[in-house]
Parts: sequence; C-alpha cells; structure tokens
Amino acid sequence: MKVTILGCYAATPRSFTNPTSQVLEVNNHLFLIDCGEGTQVQLRKNRIKFSRIKHIFISHLHGDHFYGLVGLVSTFRLLNRETELHIYGPKGIKEIITLQLKLANSWTNYPLIFHELTSKEPQLLFEDTKISVSTIPLKHRVYTNGFLFREKEGDRKLLINEAVKYNIDKTLYKSLKKGKDVVSEDGKLIANHLVTADPPPPRSYAFCSDTVYDEDIVPLVKNVSALYHESTFLEDEFDLAFPTKHSTARQAATIAKLAGVKKLILGHYSTRYDDIELFRTEAAPIFPEIILADDGKEITVE
Ligand SMILES: [Zn+2]
Repeated sequence: MKVTILGCYAATPRSFTNPTSQVLEVNNHLFLIDCGEGTQVQLRKNRIKFSRIKHIFISHLHGDHFYGLVGLVSTFRLLNRETELHIYGPKGIKEIITLQLKLANSWTNYPLIFHELTSKEPQLLFEDTKISVSTIPLKHRVYTNGFLFREKEGDRKLLINEAVKYNIDKTLYKSLKKGKDVVSEDGKLIANHLVTADPPPPRSYAFCSDTVYDEDIVPLVKNVSALYHESTFLEDEFDLAFPTKHSTARQAATIAKLAGVKKLILGHYSTRYDDIELFRTEAAPIFPEIILADDGKEITVE
C-alpha cells in the first residue's frame, strides 16, 4: 500500500505547492483521492499512468479539492480512453462536470459513471475480493466525506516444506490456505497451524480532509495503519479553525492518539505558514509517529 501525495496545501495553487490530490496504490488499484487544480501535471511529474486510474474519490466540492477533475476527465477522452471511470463524490458533482462537457460539446467516449453521495452515515462505496472502500462522514462547511481503504484478511501462508514433510497432497494446498485441517496421504489428520502461518496483517488507510475537530471520526479510523488528517492551522490560529471548520495540528494529533492509529500523516497546510516542520513540532508531543505530507512524497503504508 503506497500513497503518493500530489498536492497537500490548502486554498490556492502556487508555483511550488499544489492543492489536495493523492494516489493510493493497493492490490493493482490506483485510487485517486481528490483532484485539485494541477493534478494532471502532478500525475505526469510523478510518472503515474493515467490509464490505471479507474476510481476517483472526491471529498467535497470546495475548489481546492476538485477543480482539476473536469480537466482530467477531458484528457482521458483525448487519450482515447475506453475503460469505465467511476467518480464518487457529493451530490451535484455530476451536474457540475456534465454541464461543462455538454457546453463544450465534448462528451466522453468512455463510460463515465457517477456515484453521488448524500448519506451522513458511513457507506460502502467499492469492494472486491481484496479491498473495501467506505466513507468517513466529516464535518466541514459543506457536505464532506473522508475515505477508508481497508484490505481484507488474506489467505494463510503455506509452509511448503512442512506440507511436504507431512505428506500432504498438492490438491489440498488450497484448503490449507483457507485455514482448513486436512488428511495426509498416510491417513493422518494434520492440524492447519502445523503447515501454515498467519497471513500478513491487513493494512488500512484513512483520508480525512477537510474537517473540524470531530471525535466522531475516532471509532471509524480505530487502529488504522495510517491516518491522513488535515491540519490547516497551528494553534496560533485556533480562533480561525472552528469557524472555517478546519483542524489544527494539535487537534489532528489528538484524533490520532484517541484512535490508536499507527501513523499520522499531516497535510492541507494553510499557505500562511512558510515552514511545515512547525506542524510536526506542535503535534509530536501528543502523537509522535508523524509523517509530514509534501507534494511528490511517497509514503508506504504498512
Ligand atoms: Zn474545504
């Protein structure tokens, strides 16, 4: 599981920073999360293949989280894309994007499938045999969701030397991987744990931006491998955080601590701060396992 940060700064694009967008690579999926202005350029700079993106998750309809979307949708058309593109986002996103395509007479020649969200409860958005994606309802100035990407428990690991030693027929290996006991060629019942090992623990990634400090998030992101939590401000601007429905670095660290996550990734920094290390300095006394997001940074989730 790998997160590539394409942009992690609030509000306006600048020559050296980008608004929110990131790519999560997991089990052959490339999930695009938010799509601020400049996302296409950042995808190119980070050598991420456009055609591998099949699912785009948009947290909310503030411009710094989706103004790059219509451009990307349009580029996919110019690249002669044929595969489906699924876009998950707040109700209204379909109208915004299709109006622009309609007035430009530039309908896509590939299937563009919108999944519009209105629920204020966590909702399963996507699932296959290896991973699930669900919403994390957030509290912001407009309807907003974070997203939780969770691997499913994998098959048990076959200890091939042990399986041979216990004289188990190869056709039973699949049952062993599923955790079943089997009977060996010489008729003995072999307990599963003798010939298999636990699978690697499933990994999970939670993306929470934008949001006011909200302890309702805690049970939803409990024990995740990595939590990206916005920290638009430092405590020096505490008075701005609540009315704008954003969080401070200290508040993000408090959520991480309460949820017992493994790592906290900070981002969505206000452009008023020249040095993002200040965010670590503020958060670390509360929760030390901090990674500062920055544009172009790759983060392994383990
Ligand atoms: Zn916002």
